[in-house]
Amino acid sequence: MLLGGALLAVGLWGNEGVRISPACPPGIGRGLWDPGWLWGRDSGSASGETRKLLEDPNFGATPEAARDLEAGIVDERLVVALRIVAGEHRICVDAFKEGHYFLPGVPDGPRIPEGYGEAGGLPNTHYFGRAADIRWVDGKPVEGNGLDRDVLDVGRILAGIPPKKRPDQIIGPPRWTKALGYGREEGWILDPDQLKLHQDHIHLGYMGTPNTP
Ligand SMILES: [Zn+2]
Repeated sequence: MLLGGALLAVGLWGNEGVRISPACPPGIGRGLWDPGWLWGRDSGSASGETRKLLEDPNFGATPEAARDLEAGIVDERLVVALRIVAGEHRICVDAFKEGHYFLPGVPDGPRIPEGYGEAGGLPNTHYFGRAADIRWVDGKPVEGNGLDRDVLDVGRILAGIPPKKRPDQIIGPPRWTKALGYGREEGWILDPDQLKLHQDHIHLGYMGTPNTP
């Protein structure tokens, strides 16, 4: 019965011609064809907001990123911000905490490693579950698409989030950052060396803990 229902659901989705493309590219992360997606997964200690994000077909994540959500370690402010963006665009997050590396082969810790530009030594928001890397928007890689209409729109949606709820550590490709024209007031990081390190993804982070004013 359950199997029949699931197959029927797949058939209907296919016929409608919508949502046939998962938020993450084929082979990367979970999507429509991940059986776990169809059966419903155990969301562990995840909050209601987190469960809603996991169930949103516009949201895709690598298995590592989905596990972080299911384990409830991702900051709820970040979950809410991602839900707002996913309300208008398909986004694929490749890392929150697990599987995030600043430098290949160097395990992440509470601080950004020396050698990762001028940010070396600063607190690592990924380590605390307060950062996400968006690598694909509406099926397009962020890399090389900094001036794409949809990738730019993600920036505008972020800027439209009320300041207290908005990420205060938004970093993206140089051309994307320049075209949007936002600054510190809107949460953007503009250090040229950081932009160079974000050619292929949009980083959203919260520098403070939820209780930091
Ligand atoms: Zn990041």
